[in-house]
Amino acid sequence: MGKDKKFVEEITAMETDFAQWYTDVVKKADLVDYGSVRGSMIIRPYGYAIWENIRDVLDGKIKETGHSNVYMPLFIPESLLQKEKDHIEGFAPEVAWVTHGGDEELHERLCVRPTSEILFCEHYANIIHSYRDLPMLYNQWSNVVRWEKTTRPFLRSLEFLWQEGHTCHADEEDAMEETLKMLDVYANVCEEYLAVPVLKGKKTEKEKFAGAESTYTIESLMHDGKALQSGTSHYLGTGFAESFGIQYSDKNGELQHVHQTSWGITTRLIGALIMVHGDNRGLVVPPRIAPTQVMIVPIAQHKEGVLDRAYKLRDSLKKTVRVDIDASDKMPGWKFNEYEMKGIPLRLEIGPKDIEKNQVVLARRDTGEKEIVSMDDLNAKIPELLEDIQKNLLDKAKDHREKKTNVAKNMEDLQNSLRDNPGFVKGMWCGELACEEKIKEETGATSRCIPFEQEKISDSCMCCGQKADQLVYWAKAY
Ligand SMILES: [Zn+2]
Repeated sequence: MGKDKKFVEEITAMETDFAQWYTDVVKKADLVDYGSVRGSMIIRPYGYAIWENIRDVLDGKIKETGHSNVYMPLFIPESLLQKEKDHIEGFAPEVAWVTHGGDEELHERLCVRPTSEILFCEHYANIIHSYRDLPMLYNQWSNVVRWEKTTRPFLRSLEFLWQEGHTCHADEEDAMEETLKMLDVYANVCEEYLAVPVLKGKKTEKEKFAGAESTYTIESLMHDGKALQSGTSHYLGTGFAESFGIQYSDKNGELQHVHQTSWGITTRLIGALIMVHGDNRGLVVPPRIAPTQVMIVPIAQHKEGVLDRAYKLRDSLKKTVRVDIDASDKMPGWKFNEYEMKGIPLRLEIGPKDIEKNQVVLARRDTGEKEIVSMDDLNAKIPELLEDIQKNLLDKAKDHREKKTNVAKNMEDLQNSLRDNPGFVKGMWCGELACEEKIKEETGATSRCIPFEQEKISDSCMCCGQKADQLVYWAKAY
């Protein structure tokens, strides 16, 4: 117990200071280090391995749904960026510019991509000619740069990794189907792999993507009651196509503008994973995403036969799970703490007494429960336990979200909810920008989305009292 207590002191308790707890976890679980440019981050091997697993799962689904991966250039010439007005206005404040090549000043400034709509559009204008070319379904895995003023690892950084899908379709119906299909793919990855429950809905006009007709979002709720926009999918209409001249000749030989979509998720999802599942002992990684699902910790490993047996176990388990062994000369207690901090779902302890009895001890990271299991049953038992942990994490997160979802009929309700039980607040909205702005100004909560699943809480707007028929989820957000 004494050791436990000391260990816990190494990271700030989340109840004391959630922001500091987050910073402690990302550092001590070896996920990131800070880059030398303010706001940039070094993603360390463990953090990158988690990203690779998220990426691989999503990449598989992107390909299954008919998309191809491509790679676009890093730079966008300023003149090209000016072509779509709403888009550039939205991104201008956070664009990084290249002005020199070596010693020479460039004739035209180059923007470091904050997103690549423009580049895809220019390319599409060159390669799309006929209805036979549609739909054109491209995706890119890359980095983007946004010159943010306040930054936090994974949540908001100068440079981050992401994927951006960009597609062209013959008509609105097909493009809208794509927009919602990819939102479903994102929701599936979040819930089934990251065990992060999400709320699906549409963004208000104020919150939609710069240049989009409509933006759809998945919103998740963090442990501290703040919301995190976890993925977005946009229907771009024909606006970009008109600015860039992306046209195809239809079956009657008439020229038409394509309807476009774009959609993206980022390394931000790692932030969601930390803030949804983490606890005061560190990170908790859902088994389906965990780079290491089982860590073997030999006990009294200097005794004859222990390491031999532990390695044999690892080799046998390798066929079914992602398993690793720590045979370093550090104390078992240190190892227990280290792998709890890293959130490895299962710890397997094996010592001389266990070997005598043909058993091991399995300890769950999510509940802390320990169980003695016969070595003969391990290949069946471990995958079962991992699935149970996966399910438990999702259930716990859903339960948390439910407890932190409030209902407000007026501004006072909203203020009270945000103070007493911070989380999502369901409230009716009249659709006026003025009310949305007033709510943000007075409470700090923003409209997260107009959920697909609508309810009728009352007939009047939470803010102005006028007639309202839209339910909106409000929250303070990252
Ligand atoms: Zn109103």
